[in-house]
Amino acid sequence: MKNSADVIVIGSGLGGLECAHILSRQGLHVLVLERQQQPGGCMQSYVRGGLRLDTGLHYVGALAEGQSLHAAFRDLGLLRLPWRRLDAEGFDVVHIADESFPFAEGFDAFAHILAQRFPHERVALQQYVDAMQQVDFVAGSNVNAYDYLCGLFHDPLLINVLGGTSLKQELRRETLPWFSFAHLNSGFIESSWRLCGDGGMLVQSLVSDIEQQGGEVCCGSAVIELVEHDGQLVAARCANGETYTARTFISDIHPQLLLPLVQNSSMIKETFRRRIRALQNTRGMFTASLVLKPNTVPYINHNLYLYDEPNVWTQSELDGTTVGGVMVSSRVPNHPDSAFAEQVDLLTPMSWSLCQPYKGTEPGHRGAAYVEMKEQWAAACIERAERAIPALRGNVLKCHTSTPLTYASYNASPEGTAYGVRKDYANPMMTYLSPRTPISNLLLTGQNIMLHGIQGVTMAAYETCNILSKNINCKSSIVKLSN
Ligand SMILES: Cc1cc2nc3c(=O)[nH]c(=O)nc-3n(C[C@H](O)[C@H](O)[C@H](O)COP(=O)(O)OP(=O)(O)OC[C@H]3O[C@@H](n4cnc5c(N)ncnc54)[C@H](O)[C@@H]3O)c2cc1C
Repeated sequence: MKNSADVIVIGSGLGGLECAHILSRQGLHVLVLERQQQPGGCMQSYVRGGLRLDTGLHYVGALAEGQSLHAAFRDLGLLRLPWRRLDAEGFDVVHIADESFPFAEGFDAFAHILAQRFPHERVALQQYVDAMQQVDFVAGSNVNAYDYLCGLFHDPLLINVLGGTSLKQELRRETLPWFSFAHLNSGFIESSWRLCGDGGMLVQSLVSDIEQQGGEVCCGSAVIELVEHDGQLVAARCANGETYTARTFISDIHPQLLLPLVQNSSMIKETFRRRIRALQNTRGMFTASLVLKPNTVPYINHNLYLYDEPNVWTQSELDGTTVGGVMVSSRVPNHPDSAFAEQVDLLTPMSWSLCQPYKGTEPGHRGAAYVEMKEQWAAACIERAERAIPALRGNVLKCHTSTPLTYASYNASPEGTAYGVRKDYANPMMTYLSPRTPISNLLLTGQNIMLHGIQGVTMAAYETCNILSKNINCKSSIVKLSN
C-alpha cells in the first residue's frame, strides 16, 4: 500500500466506489478509505446462518439499453452482473385496503393501466408521465410534490396510489420537491431490475475493477482529520495511525460527518458550517429479512407496497413511530428457474426517536427492550405481508432485523438516516448540495448531495468526477451519464 495517491476517496459507499472506478479508469491512482471492515456502505450485504442478506439494494431502474442508467452501468462494469427485469405489467403493485394498483413499465403503459381504473383522470395521467420525463432541477426543485399532484388530479385515491411506491424515498408532504419525486419514480417506470444475488456482488465487482485499474480500497481506515496547508487539503489522517497524502479528495460521507474532519480549515467559514449543521435528515428504515421454508412461498417478480388505508401522504405525521406502509421485496431465487422464494425483505420507515434510547450500545448487546421492540415491529410487518401473501403464514424460518440504529452503527449515518439529507422544495439551494466545497480540492459525492438511490448516487458520481477532471489532468474526459 502506497501512502500517497492522486485522489483519496473518503467512504466506500456506492458513490465513493463509483468515483474510484471512473477515476482509476482515467489512469489516476485512487485510494478509498473506509472505516468499516468491509466496503459498500448501504450496498453491503451481511451473512446470517450461511445466507447473504441485503441492506440497501432491492431494485434499480432504467438499466435497459438506451435508458438513463444503461451507459453508466456499462462503463462501471455492472451490466456484467446477472440482472432480472421485473414484471412489465406491474413491476410495483400498490395495495391500499383491499384494492391493488399495478405500475406498468413504460410511461404510456403506466398511464394507460391506471386510466382503466381512474378513467376520469386519463388526461391528467398523460400529463403526469409527460411532466415526469421533462422534469429538470430548475423547474422542479422548488415545487412541492404533493401540491403538484393535488393540482393535477382530482381523485384523492389516485394521489395516494401515485405516492404508494415512495417508501423508497421519504414521502414527506411538507417538504418533498417534485424534482426528487419525479426523478426517482421515472427511472423505475423506464424499467425495473433486481440483482440475481446480493448487493455485495455489486460492491465486489466495483472493488475488483478498481484494484485491476491500479486503485486501492482500504477498509478499517476511519478518517479522523483532513489536513489543510495553504488553503488546500494535503493529507487524510486515520484512526489506525496511518496518514495518506493526495492532490485531491472526494468525500462520500454525510456532510455533517465531514465537518469535524475539517475543523481546523481556514477555508470553511462559519456560515458554511452553520448551513451544513442545519440540514435535516430523512427518516431511517426498519427491515425484517425473512428466511423462508424451502418450496413454500411463490417467488414474486415485483414489489408490493402495502397500506391499510389511503393515508400514504399523511403517514409522515405519524413520524415512523408505528408501522405504516410496508414494502415487500423478494430476492431472486438462487436457482433462477425456481418458482419459490428463499428470502423476502419487509421494509417500513422507523423514527429515530424509537432508537435514541439505545444509542451508544453495541450491536448484539442493546438489551431486552430493544429486542422486544424489533420483534414487535417485525411481527406487525409480517402480519401485514401475510394478508397480501397468505403462503408466508407458518413458512418463515428466521427473521433478521435492522433499524436506523443499525445504519448509525455501521455506516455512521446521522440518526440512521436511510436517504441522507432531506430535500426541501421551499429551500432547494440550501438542501441540494453542490459537489464543490469552499476547499477547492475537496469535492462531495454520494446520496447527500443531489438525489439518493442507485440512480441518484451514480449521477452524482459522474458529476463529481466531471468537476474533478476539469481541475486535474485526466487522460480523457469523463463519460457523461447519457447514452
Ligand atoms: C433500507 C434501505 C433500502 C434501500 N433500497 C434501495 C433500492 O432498492 N434501490 C436504490 O436505488 N436505493 C436504495 N437505497 C438507497 C441506497 O442504498 C443509497 O442511496 C446508497 O447506497 C448510498 O450510497 P452513498 O455512496 O451515498 O454512501 P453510503 O452507503 O452512505 O456509504 C458511506 C460510507 O462512508 C463510510 N464512512 C463514514 N464515515 C467515514 C470516515 N470518517 N472514514 C471513512 N469512511 C467513513 C461508511 O462506513 C460507509 O461505508 C436503500 C437504502 C436503505 C437504507
